[in-house]
Amino acid sequence: MSDEVVLQARGIVREFQSGTEVLRVLKGVSLDLHQGEIVGIFGPSGAGKSTLLHILGTLDRPTEGQVQILGQNPFDLNDPELSRFRSETIGFVFQFHHLFPELTALENVMLPLMLQGVPDARARAEALLEEVGLQDRMHHRPSELSGGENQRVAVARALANEPPILLADEPTGNLDSANEERLLALFQALNERHGTAILIVSHNRRIQTFCHRVLYLKDGVLSHEPENRSL
Ligand code: ADP
Repeated sequence: MSDEVVLQARGIVREFQSGTEVLRVLKGVSLDLHQGEIVGIFGPSGAGKSTLLHILGTLDRPTEGQVQILGQNPFDLNDPELSRFRSETIGFVFQFHHLFPELTALENVMLPLMLQGVPDARARAEALLEEVGLQDRMHHRPSELSGGENQRVAVARALANEPPILLADEPTGNLDSANEERLLALFQALNERHGTAILIVSHNRRIQTFCHRVLYLKDGVLSHEPENRSL
């Protein structure tokens, strides 16, 4: 872990219009993610975790507040610039892996590399799938793989462009406990090997033990302490 802040959020507010009402989902969230750090944000369903992760991942804009990624304000960029910046800096892992069903594991991992014009996309994708332990499953489609295997393909794809930041939204939500442990061990190995900063949001407190730092989100407010022990 280093002192370098790779992702910084200050005073993030997110409001949604719901009929005539304004729903204030995030109420001024500030956060620093350092290079090589694994941070977990925990909280009950509806706390605003996904909303926050989408903003930190530049997929959504805050109503108020600032985000800086590697010293850059991503929301200063126009749409094509932002897409490029996002794909170079952030890998995403979601609860549902969002793999293309008609593509093999190898093709799913190759796709972002090819979109970036990487010349050795195939060799890179093969190396990534080997790294996540799927060297024998490269030519299988998602329907021919287990939930845990598909999630590992999704991790390989998220890391294809060697992003310094990995954002994971409920990544073990669909996994049994053996696959959950395997995925967390993989995150840990990637963090140690590549220094990837990892931010996970989850309601699953079992993940806490594997984080370097744990934060809690409740009613749109981020804190260092759980609201109560039974969360
Ligand atoms: P969590 O990930 O912690 O379960 P979410 O960030 O998904 O929570 O949602 C927090 C709250 O924001 C919920 O009450 C949800 O209904 C609301 N919300 C999220 N996205 C929208 C949206 N696009 N429009 C209106 N309300 C939304």
